[in-house]
Amino acid sequence: MKPDDTYNLAVQVLDEYIATGKLRRTHERYIILRQICNFPAQFTAEQLQLLCTKELAVSRATIYNTLQLLLDASLLISYPLYAGSKTTCYELCIKKNSRMYFRCSQCGRVVEFEDKSISSLVKNRRYSNFVPTNLSLYVFGTCKVCRRQSKRGGNKNSNSI
Ligand SMILES: [Zn+2]
Repeated sequence: MKPDDTYNLAVQVLDEYIATGKLRRTHERYIILRQICNFPAQFTAEQLQLLCTKELAVSRATIYNTLQLLLDASLLISYPLYAGSKTTCYELCIKKNSRMYFRCSQCGRVVEFEDKSISSLVKNRRYSNFVPTNLSLYVFGTCKVCRRQSKRGGNKNSNSI
């Protein structure tokens, strides 16, 4: 899905949610939503605020309030950055029930990939105490660029993408 298509779809969902809840339709909320739709993967509230300040000055409170609204509208999912972390990550979950990424542990680069066998495995699996709705998978390792750099330094790493 192109970023514009994703944004248009997200706007439909948000418009409907705002109309149903008789909430305010503010300009800031839509600018924040557009930035999220343009962002490829997970993000934190701080990263989102940095992206948005290119277009308009938004307070941290506006960012958090809008993130909560988008979570309530089921446009986002949130989870800790890593197990036990106090930093919350957010991710767009519109019309796409599975997202998979390679994430380089050295440079932080994130590349989206698709593996239908993994998504169908989770989709078809029955869990006794849990009903899965979305899949978000991060495979950590070392990207091609970092692997090349570490090889030059004579340090071979077998855990790479
Ligand atoms: Zn890397």
